[in-house]
Amino acid sequence: MATDQDYYDVMGVPRTASQDDIKKAYRELVKKYHPDLHKDDTSAPKHMSEVNEAYDALSDPAKRQQYDQFGKAGPMGVPGGAAGWTTEGSGFGEAFGGFDIGNLFGSFMGGFGRQQAQPDESPRGRDLSFNVTLTLHEAIFGVKKEIRIRRNDVCETCHGSGAAPGTTPHACSTCSGSGEVRQMQNTIFGRVVTAGVCPTCKGEGRVIDSPCPTCRGSGVVRADRTIEVTIPPGVDTGIKVRVAGQGDAGRRTGQAGDLYLYVTVEADSRYVRQGTTLYFRAKLTPSKAVLGTAVSIPLVEGGTETVSIPAGSQHGSEVRIRGKGAQSVGERRRGDLVVQVEVVIPKTLGAEQRKLYKQLMELDK
Ligand SMILES: [Zn+2]
Ligand SMILES: [Zn+2]
Repeated sequence: MATDQDYYDVMGVPRTASQDDIKKAYRELVKKYHPDLHKDDTSAPKHMSEVNEAYDALSDPAKRQQYDQFGKAGPMGVPGGAAGWTTEGSGFGEAFGGFDIGNLFGSFMGGFGRQQAQPDESPRGRDLSFNVTLTLHEAIFGVKKEIRIRRNDVCETCHGSGAAPGTTPHACSTCSGSGEVRQMQNTIFGRVVTAGVCPTCKGEGRVIDSPCPTCRGSGVVRADRTIEVTIPPGVDTGIKVRVAGQGDAGRRTGQAGDLYLYVTVEADSRYVRQGTTLYFRAKLTPSKAVLGTAVSIPLVEGGTETVSIPAGSQHGSEVRIRGKGAQSVGERRRGDLVVQVEVVIPKTLGAEQRKLYKQLMELDK
């Protein structure tokens, strides 16, 4: 069963995760979804197969690189397993004498190839990812966080142009500033006119004679930056938040990439969250469950709410506090806080209690 989800999302790891992180995440997910361990959960087999698919792709460094570069579709935009187009194993490249499959696709695909074949030369800055860990409160109500990232920033000496102060880039004479050179090529599919990257200007259409001394002509410099990011209310583990334009600066005034925040929400000692519902366990003695009682329930926003537990409440029965659960991103209405009755049988009794329980037992029968 193929999943449409991003493999990193499925595994719940950032794009920068090490192989060890991926293995660790996999072990956790197996515990969470393995159908043998969750016989009652009908969605477990589907989850497990998604996790396996993602793990299969990310645990193999070669497959992972392929996925990072081309996504799930593979280099031609068809699913990786489609006949004839896979680059794995005894695939296409080897079958045709081992030519460089990247170059073939590069020349076929024009703009696509230009970007993918020379990722370092792409004027748009790379997207960056950052792992944020939130408390349950922060996840439900949203939070502003200062995070420190290392990224490419616009060079202050040349303001990103890459040209030394006092000089300006000029149009490339090889491609007349278009960045592309067209050529006829004989391929196994016949004769094709291809648009390739101009070798002189590497596709930028401009040439710099005196590169900026600070950034050596790239227009960007590495820098550690502290930036404030806003996490919207309602996020949960596995959600990624896009912060537009806060990734790497683009080379030579190209567009900046985006920053993706991969959210992990810490386990909370009081509540269990499932979607927009929060569960809270209220421990009761048998007598309170039998006779009914009032309990003070802590709310995630602070403060408490008193709920009455009706007489004769069974272990596991639930009382709902409307609108005091979690919310989902983009929605204002909150889910419910569900109080679950947990009847705790005393393990030791005082003399008086023992006497009364004995009397009760006689009355029971
Ligand atoms: Zn510079
Ligand atoms: Zn050129």
